[in-house]
Amino acid sequence: MEAIVFGNGNVITLNPSKPRAGAVAVENGRIISVGTDEEALAVAGKNAKRVDLEGRTVLPGFADSHVHLIEYGLLLSFASLDVREARSIDEIKEIVRARAREKPGGSWITGHGWDTTILAENRPPNRWDLDAVAPKNPVMITDMGGHICSVNSLALKLADIGKDTESPRGGKIDKDPDTGEPTGLLRETAAMRVDELITYTDEELIVALSHALDKAVEHGLTSVHCIVQTPQHIRVFQQLLMRDKLPLRVYLMIYSSLLPHLLALGLHTGFGNPKLRIGAIKVMLDGSIEGYTAALTQPYEGQPDNLGIPWLSENKLYDIVSKAHKAGFQLAIHAIGDRAIHMVLDSLERILKEEPRMDHRHRIEHASLLDDKSITRIKNLGVIASVQPIFITPDMDWMIRPLGHRRATELGERYRTMLDAGIQVTAGSDCPADSTMSPLLGMQSAVNRHGFAQEQRITIEEAISLYTINPAYASFEENVRGSIEVGKLGDLVVLSDDPLAVPEDKIDDISVDMTVVNGEIVYARKSLQ
Ligand SMILES: [Zn+2]
Repeated sequence: MEAIVFGNGNVITLNPSKPRAGAVAVENGRIISVGTDEEALAVAGKNAKRVDLEGRTVLPGFADSHVHLIEYGLLLSFASLDVREARSIDEIKEIVRARAREKPGGSWITGHGWDTTILAENRPPNRWDLDAVAPKNPVMITDMGGHICSVNSLALKLADIGKDTESPRGGKIDKDPDTGEPTGLLRETAAMRVDELITYTDEELIVALSHALDKAVEHGLTSVHCIVQTPQHIRVFQQLLMRDKLPLRVYLMIYSSLLPHLLALGLHTGFGNPKLRIGAIKVMLDGSIEGYTAALTQPYEGQPDNLGIPWLSENKLYDIVSKAHKAGFQLAIHAIGDRAIHMVLDSLERILKEEPRMDHRHRIEHASLLDDKSITRIKNLGVIASVQPIFITPDMDWMIRPLGHRRATELGERYRTMLDAGIQVTAGSDCPADSTMSPLLGMQSAVNRHGFAQEQRITIEEAISLYTINPAYASFEENVRGSIEVGKLGDLVVLSDDPLAVPEDKIDDISVDMTVVNGEIVYARKSLQ
């Protein structure tokens, strides 16, 4: 592959020994020079391809540490309905009705994104709402957070959920208080029972995934830590790789339900190639704050009996943790509530005592509600916090209403405290739980926090690290990517403006002009092509 020189730029390297440069040269996928235009051209040779950046800013390619590309792609490809903008149940019904007209009877209608905080009726859609518009198709529509779903009567029937069905551990089948009939609202593990029945063809998933990958490179992402739930999900990633249609690097975070199969094959974290690797084992431990299902030490506001529901008992969690850890896997455990986080730390502390491993890099996904003791334990155990700054928005009602203002602001999203304690913090979007993957928007939220617990603000330099070098560390790749240095992979993002030079509420106004993976331009905004 011929060398390529990105010159006349403002290169922010994240390499402390050479923080700024004007040009970067890449050859055969690796960075061969970081310096002035003359230096880069001298190393790359006069036949090198040249890209004039016209003063634009270059950063190491962005990474998203927690994303659900397949689910997002299903929305983008319209294989799954997008109801995130719906303002009423009637609006959702119209969307489902239109789809039911196109679909043969019996085939699934799926959708994502209802949000009771914006629905006029102030309640989730139920089975009867959905029956009215799609009586002949099973329907499942998940909420914005992806933890609760509304299904119709046919879907309940297919999942064999009726009046006498008990709620599974870590989940809840909502029932009408008068009749005892399921209302169609399924929470957490109960939702999984329906989820398992929905199928797509490989080709449908490949189309969906390709849509999501296109979006990812538009946002400047050169690497994603992507959650996969089924063998089919892994297969479609592999098929895209073999068709040379994987534009960025993928670190798979595989659901713990597949752990026995991985163990049987002797696989562990790190297997694969620089484009597609087996990453962490993803364990689900609790729900979400807005769904009142995150596991708390103190009850939810207005619900004195509700402490949330852990998906797993302490023993079951430890069983997964110890098997995965002993086989050489990194663990990525979804824990949002303070009680769930205590459970994770108990489990990790125990296994690390039993079988110490220096460089385990186990992670807590979300780590939303942290007391001081948890901060100390995370630091001492060397655990990574994988957070979603993009969740901090001007309206924090989703967190403040269930927890109360004091608890939310004292325990919620404590990035400043974690960084000051020396904890490795890495950032992701959790898209499509949030509507966009934009790292720039995430950085803006981490830096200005929109008035929420302002003392937890971090600097833009720190925020950039959360989306570059820190995710590289979280996937054991800090020696090959995450900063712009000679010898590292040629993964770059070109921005219209310098995030260090714009006002902090304008970071998200910066446009991604070009995304470079392995020295190849995988995305260029039209004006630059
Ligand atoms: Zn997630």
